[in-house]
Amino acid sequence: MNIALKGRNEGHFLDINSFNDESWRIILKKSIRDPGELYPFFPMDKAQIEPVIKRYPMKINPYYLGLIKHRNDPIYKQCVPDIQEIKNSAGEDDPLSEEESSPVPSIIHKYPDRVLFYVSNRCAMYCRFCNRKRKVGKIDIGKKEIDEGISYIKSNRNIKDVLLSGGDPLLLSDRQLFDILSCIRDISHVNIIRVGTRVPCTLPHRITDNLVNNLKRFHPLYINTHFNHPMEITPQSTQACTRLANAGIPLGCQTVLLKGVNDEPKIIKELMYKLLSIRVRPYYLFYPDRVRGTSHFWVDFQKGIEIFSSLHGHISGLGVPKLVIDLPGGGGKVPVYPEYVIEKKDTLITFTSFDGKRIDYNFDKPKQ
Ligand SMILES: *Cc1c(COP(=O)(O)O)cnc(C)c1O
Ligand code: SF4
Repeated sequence: MNIALKGRNEGHFLDINSFNDESWRIILKKSIRDPGELYPFFPMDKAQIEPVIKRYPMKINPYYLGLIKHRNDPIYKQCVPDIQEIKNSAGEDDPLSEEESSPVPSIIHKYPDRVLFYVSNRCAMYCRFCNRKRKVGKIDIGKKEIDEGISYIKSNRNIKDVLLSGGDPLLLSDRQLFDILSCIRDISHVNIIRVGTRVPCTLPHRITDNLVNNLKRFHPLYINTHFNHPMEITPQSTQACTRLANAGIPLGCQTVLLKGVNDEPKIIKELMYKLLSIRVRPYYLFYPDRVRGTSHFWVDFQKGIEIFSSLHGHISGLGVPKLVIDLPGGGGKVPVYPEYVIEKKDTLITFTSFDGKRIDYNFDKPKQ
């Protein structure tokens, strides 16, 4: 039995290894939202936490809470509110100008051929570094907003790829989720459906048989999940990813570099290996966005380059995500690379290899 569940299990039989609708709903219901419930685990001053969660809600489910080994460890920092969130006002609420790229409240349309469809404002845990801190857990998304989103996608023939996001789409009930997926699948110009979800990491029990058996009906369907630290890879999260992969769903991972959590080459490298071993292909490694309330997590440009350099060539290319920055003002994502081309002289290009050797490559025309 997971320590955090002790004493939080009265009146319910809760098996941390069962993956059914009842188990994930019970785990969610027992989430800590109130500072009073956190003190027995981590005694702290009320003034350090109450004003923070007035602005940015707290929700820590007992499964994720149980992954904490010590105060201030990488799991703790991702889920327990910190006074820095309100003390330091650096950044903007919406630095990516998502609201300006939003033709209807549930759609963010930045790229010509694909949209982000905001279908849920709830998550299995509220990440303190969330880049949609301004709205996750706060604004409501109802049937009206979802219907407007579907109509928007229907009337825009350029949209070939719909990315369900939020919040977390897998916090919807099966029925709600399958209704949305069916409506999207019925739109002939939409080819790819993607689901962005942190549930395999934060509430793996949500990946039930009924969910995976039904998701199969909507292929080509991809899932991008979100792990940030090797400590998040557990028997339960392994099982969740295995179930999805066995349903033929390609799994990607969007990891966020976070100061004090995972901003070290050794940690990221171990995470990438572990993701491959649970059949998740690293997709993006993000610099944290300059969102207000998250500045204590920001990582320097050079740090990201250093971490990326420790992956490229040192581990299989399968385990190397793209290092990206989401540009301000709606500019979209841009990949960032260390300089591998160090000199160009006419047709002679000098590269640096992964282990730091200078190697020339001549692009001269073949002799006739
Ligand atoms: C990230 C993102 C996407 C998807 O981008 P990909 O690079 O195709 O994964 C789509 N819309 C918005 C608004 C996004 O932020
Ligand atoms: S799961 Fe994603 S959307 Fe939800 S709080 Fe965490 S980062 Fe934000």
